[in-house]
Amino acid sequence: MQGSEKVRVRIAPSPTGENLHIGHANTALVSYIFAKQNNGRFIVRIEDTDRTRYVEGSIDRILESLLWLGLDFDEGPGVEGEFGPYIQSERLQLYREHAKKLVDKGAAYHCFCTAEELDQIRNEQVTKGLPQMYDKRCKNLSSEEVEERLKRNEPHVIRVDIPKEGTTAFTDMIRGEISFQNELIDDQVLIKSDGFPTYHLAVVVDDHLMEISHVIRGEDWISSTPKHVLLYQAFGWELPKFAHLPLLRNKDKSKLSKRKNPVFMSWYREQGFLPQAIVNYLGTLLSPVAEGDEIFGIQELVRDFDITKVNITGPAWDQDKLKWINGVYIRNLTVEDLSEKLVDGGFVPDSHTTDRAYLAKVVALEQERLKLLSEFWEQNQFFWETPEVPVELATSVLSEEVLTSYLPEVISALSELDVSSWSSKVLEEVLREVQTRRELKPREAFLTLHIAVSGQK
Ligand code: GLU
Repeated sequence: MQGSEKVRVRIAPSPTGENLHIGHANTALVSYIFAKQNNGRFIVRIEDTDRTRYVEGSIDRILESLLWLGLDFDEGPGVEGEFGPYIQSERLQLYREHAKKLVDKGAAYHCFCTAEELDQIRNEQVTKGLPQMYDKRCKNLSSEEVEERLKRNEPHVIRVDIPKEGTTAFTDMIRGEISFQNELIDDQVLIKSDGFPTYHLAVVVDDHLMEISHVIRGEDWISSTPKHVLLYQAFGWELPKFAHLPLLRNKDKSKLSKRKNPVFMSWYREQGFLPQAIVNYLGTLLSPVAEGDEIFGIQELVRDFDITKVNITGPAWDQDKLKWINGVYIRNLTVEDLSEKLVDGGFVPDSHTTDRAYLAKVVALEQERLKLLSEFWEQNQFFWETPEVPVELATSVLSEEVLTSYLPEVISALSELDVSSWSSKVLEEVLREVQTRRELKPREAFLTLHIAVSGQK
């Protein structure tokens, strides 16, 4: 039975990608907020039972990204609590014991079917236009035969025995009641032939043993939930509450994918998005936000967010909107903080970070416009290094002929000034004087100077 009334929520990322996926970051944010709202605990459990998709180093990078976002967890790898270990590959014995309990109760059975047999079952079903699922043939093996074959170490799996009649329903906190016909639910494998549990068994056992009160996850798991509900019932355990969040989408409404959008948190960090801006942007996708109210922090989310009111249509990921929000956060930093973030994040080459006073002057000039930390250097490099100015760029506004006399005139006008008198006002007067004398349009005169100084249009 569920041990306490306490709210305990978890995210359960699998280390199958290079870093934290933004979909998981979204689930993590909602779980974190929900835990805070209810004086509960936010837990991270790593689901690494699919050894074929395991990516080395991914666990550490996922945890690091969560902390970078400010989503500190109360229990998880490295933050041990009384329900650990929090990495599934360290809990294998538990899943085996629990699978055995189900076999003993008659709720699960050993299956010795080979890949060829399973193919053959599937092919027949395809020809007959039937749903593709296991036909339960091993369920009817006598216990003597099963013993015998296990003794001979025949490769096998353990499957759950799903009743063929009736329906399985659950109440989703966001979507209300959802029900599935049992005859369409497959006798899912619980323990694979390599002895590892499948997701379905491990998630149920762990959510129960870790006393998870609310399972918050992406809507792509809705069709798995009835399988889990049946497992809870087979064990005789109380169900947690479920909430399935809409998936983030590409602009064309397809499920957010690597091909159309960067999906890993590491990319956003490398680009110079600030964690508070990402959290804020995710927050704007959760529930409708009025124009003008788009900027808020995690405290406001904890105060105002209502999980039962989440938008169920999957929001489209809009990089430009995120960039705009990032710009707001950048503008709200002090010049010192922004300079520090640029230096610490490696956005200014080490060789140019010693003169902080000079850096601060450039930062103060650029802060208004900057939307991404990674754009800083590209746009301001000329303050440190004389740029290469390609001829085509230099002559894109004024012809080479005009240019070769205009630029020396500007230089000589400026050289007449004492450098200590340089101010934007004085420079503007002098440069306007040259512009009028040369009968150039302001755009021609000043854009040309901008190109000459920065190497950029
Ligand atoms: N390991 C699953 C995933 O990668 C977790 C699903 C769940 O939260 O139950 O998304």
